Amino acid sequence: MWNTFEDDRRYCDACERYVSYLLSPQDAYCARCGADVRLFSDEDRRRFQASLRRPLGPEDLLGGVDRRDSA
Ligand SMILES: [Zn+2]
Repeated sequence: MWNTFEDDRRYCDACERYVSYLLSPQDAYCARCGADVRLFSDEDRRRFQASLRRPLGPEDLLGGVDRRDSA
């Protein structure tokens, strides 16, 4: 059985949209341009984390800080 297409996308900063992606054991890459992808856009991630009321995860500590105010 296949997942729905929407369930199999992540956010690409380079494409500025949710894209299909290639998954390796440690990373995921945009299937369109090869850039790293993540589960959520900045806006969606803030919403998601606010909904969980939890501290920022490892990826936030490792380098997402300088990109999060690109409204
Ligand atoms: Zn991309």
